[in-house]
Amino acid sequence: MRVLLASLAAAALAGCAATAQNAGPGTVKITSLGSHDGELCPLDRAIVFEDPDGTRILYDAGRTVRGPADPRLGKIDAILLSHVHGDHLGDLIQPSANAGTCPRPDFSVNVTPNSNMVNIAMAKQAPMIVGGEMGSFLSAKVGSLGGDPAKLVRLVRFGAQTMVGKVMVAGVPAVHSNGLPPAFLPKEQAQALQATGLTAYVGEPGGFVLRFSNGLTAYLSGDTGITAEQDLVVRGHYKANLAVMNIGGFPFTTGPIESAYVVNELVRPASVIATHVNEPATVNGKVAPNSKTAAFIQQAKMPVHVPLSGKTMQFDGAGRCVSGC
Ligand SMILES: [Zn+2]
Repeated sequence: MRVLLASLAAAALAGCAATAQNAGPGTVKITSLGSHDGELCPLDRAIVFEDPDGTRILYDAGRTVRGPADPRLGKIDAILLSHVHGDHLGDLIQPSANAGTCPRPDFSVNVTPNSNMVNIAMAKQAPMIVGGEMGSFLSAKVGSLGGDPAKLVRLVRFGAQTMVGKVMVAGVPAVHSNGLPPAFLPKEQAQALQATGLTAYVGEPGGFVLRFSNGLTAYLSGDTGITAEQDLVVRGHYKANLAVMNIGGFPFTTGPIESAYVVNELVRPASVIATHVNEPATVNGKVAPNSKTAAFIQQAKMPVHVPLSGKTMQFDGAGRCVSGC
């Protein structure tokens, strides 16, 4: 019995050693660029990930990044776009920091037909990484604005991966929709579609897996429901140890109950960042008691971190928040 226990202990130690070997030095800095400083507000989507090597990746600029001149962006090396809905590609933006209120942010600046994402890609000369049929659409748009599509658009469909600095970026499925709102099209095409209630086809929406140089492996859900790939691909193949999970619920994506099932039973990461909450999740930086976010935190079996706008959280290679949470 003692021998068995000893060998079990040795195996456990070996397991720890293997994990430690996979984990590199340093932490990944994760910062939400939301509509209101220190809060998590309904339309907050944008998050910047910074690898220990200095590579900075922007995820879904949406409406809360206040254009390419937003000082919170800094250097950006790549821009991930999950899908083309207005709150992700960016149809409107905030005129100034904290404009409006957290429950009702002011997004009164129209940036169509270009989009916030394309404006940022052009200004930063950073590639937009996209799946589906979004590459050809964005290439044409970038080209029409005088940009170089070969430099500014990178297609990464489901199953494929690319490198940005030392960060591996892979495309994974999201089950949602991905119709291009007519506002992003030239006027004549937009009017024809608007009259019929149709959107333009740009292929499937997606999510991403990012593997950073310290070993942190983050699943970015995009907008999605429950999918088998969250188990078979995100956990099974990529072994994500952090999930950045949409929790907003009816009528668009998984809500708190479904999202808790995803993280508890399918992805099973060490920790979770709640996003796409579609509610004013915090008041004075504290989670509102009767919010969907509070319900999700209660249901999830692992620590859930709330991305307060402008507050940087740091994660080690094992998916644990070590600072700022
Ligand atoms: Zn969407």
